[in-house]
This record gives sequence, C-alpha cells and structure tokens, in this order.
Amino acid sequence: MDTFCEISCYSKDKDRSIAAIDAAFKEMKRIEDIFSKFDEHSEVSRINRLAGIEKVRLTKEVFSLTQDAVYYSQISEGAFDITVAPLMELWKGARKGNSMPDRAELETTLKSVGYKNIELDPDELYITFLNKGTKVDFGGIAKGYAVDRAKDILISKGINKGLINLGGNIFALGSAPGNKNWGIGVYDPREKDKLLYTFRLTNKAISTSGNYERFFEIGGKRYSHIINPVTGEPCMGIVSVTVVSGSAEKADALSTAISVMGEEKGLNLAKAIKDIEVLILKEDGRVISYPLERAGNEL
Ligand code: AMP
Ligand code: MG
Repeated sequence: MDTFCEISCYSKDKDRSIAAIDAAFKEMKRIEDIFSKFDEHSEVSRINRLAGIEKVRLTKEVFSLTQDAVYYSQISEGAFDITVAPLMELWKGARKGNSMPDRAELETTLKSVGYKNIELDPDELYITFLNKGTKVDFGGIAKGYAVDRAKDILISKGINKGLINLGGNIFALGSAPGNKNWGIGVYDPREKDKLLYTFRLTNKAISTSGNYERFFEIGGKRYSHIINPVTGEPCMGIVSVTVVSGSAEKADALSTAISVMGEEKGLNLAKAIKDIEVLILKEDGRVISYPLERAGNEL
C-alpha cells in the first residue's frame, strides 16, 4: 500500500503475540493484493480494465467496500470519491513532466470522475461504470479497512492489547501495558518535536490524512495527494486532518473527505455523524477540533 506498517502486541505468551502479528500481516497482504491498482492481476485492476465495457462480478468483500465508499461519497457531498483514479493519473503525469496539467485535459478527465458513474447490483454483486473512462482507486479507504481486519485477527488470536499502525491509520486495541488507554500524539508536521494534541484511546481507530508525508511537487511547489473530485485540483489550505472513530475504515475515509471539504463543511459533517472526533490543522497555523470540549484540553 505504498507505506509502512507496524504492529505491537502485548500478551503474557510471547509465541501467541508473534503468531497473532504474523496472521495480521498476512491478512493485510491479502487485502493489498486485492485492492492494489499497481498490480495488474488484482481485482481492482480487473474492475478498472473491464467495468467501463461490461458488468463485472465482484467478490463479496470488494463489493462491500465499494458500497461503503459510495456511502462515504454520499454523506460527504462527493468530497470522498474513489473515482478520482483518472485524476490521480493525470496529476502523476504532470509531476513526471514537471508541468501543470493542461486545462482542457483536466476538463476531459473530470467527465469520467464521479461516484454516480458507479452502478452496483447487490443481488448479483455486479459493478458497471456508466462512463468508459471511469476507474477506481481505494487508496483513501483500503488502509483503514485493512487495519480493521488486522485488528479482528489479533482479537481472534486472543490478543486484547495492541497497536496497529498502517501509514497513519491506527487502531488502539485495549490499553498500553500499565495504562488505562493508549496515548496517540498528533504532531505539527512543520515542527516535528511539537505535539499538537494527545488522544487517549481505547478500542478506537485514529487516522491522519496530510499533505506533508504524501505529496508531490511540480515546479518546486508542493501539492497534496488528495484531489478534489469536483474541481480536479489537489486540495489546499489544510495541513492535516485527524479523525477518531470506532472503525479504522470510517476514520480513513472521513479524514480524506474532510481534507477536501475544508473546515466549515468538514465540521458540519462531523457534527451530523456525531460518533467521531476531528482535529484539523490549517495552513495558517490554526487548529480546529470537534467536539469543542477537546479544544484547550490537551492542545
Ligand atoms: P489518505 O492518505 O487516506 O488521505 O488517502 C489519499 C489517497 O486516496 C490518495 O493517494 C489517492 O489514492 C486517494 N484519493 C485522493 N483523493 C481522494 C478523494 N477525494 N476521495 C477518495 N480517495 C482519494
Ligand atoms: Mg484516508
């Protein structure tokens, strides 16, 4: 998934921990093999080759994550959208050529972008793209999904204290040894030794989307790897968005979505969803958090 992964487990039985970690890594690798857009044999590559031409039958697992992705598109007014794939390719080309994409090319690409181009048949598990150029990219949700599955594996192997971190998508299982919870610090990426906030979590997921670890440069200027699916432009104004939720998949999708939506719309979404916490670091240095009681607490 083009990032790092760390798993820690605590148990009186060391062998049990090692077996659990091995099984969790295997599960993540299995998920990577399915959702990778770089591996031409992956199920997602098959969808991207065929679904614009004919209906493609999916495994239950891929169908289900696609349904979830569409749900996150709906609640975020299209800010989260796995059909950004053609835009990702366009900006990748721009980065390689070190020049901004051509306006006309951007407009053409935008025509194939939009979750409404995805048609799902839940009875037969078929997917069809209503536009030939549509392609999907699970990069904004698959890491969170993989963390949830890895966490389930740890639990099934008898582990109740542990930490999984897949590229900033974290699940805090139980509590740290000798503690009531896990302390997860969010750094100010511009001053790495400065902690913005410490979340105290138990059995919760936390995900940070930011333009500081994953970004690209054109003409010496930095651009976010998160693209606004409506304008086709990389999102701007926000340094990072952190979301806490019971599910790592949800935290992953919503941290990406809120990065696109920005402060006002993003906070409105958080308020509507209720069971999430959000911390936004803006480019002008402001830190915004929800629920508001959080502000001033450990900031
Ligand atoms: P994350 O690191 O979780 O914020 O996800 C960023 C990744 O998700 C990118 O590298 C793309 O693969 C994909 N992506 C970019 N923009 C969007 C978007 N607006 N909605 C959904 N996925 C996106
Ligand atoms: Mg994400």
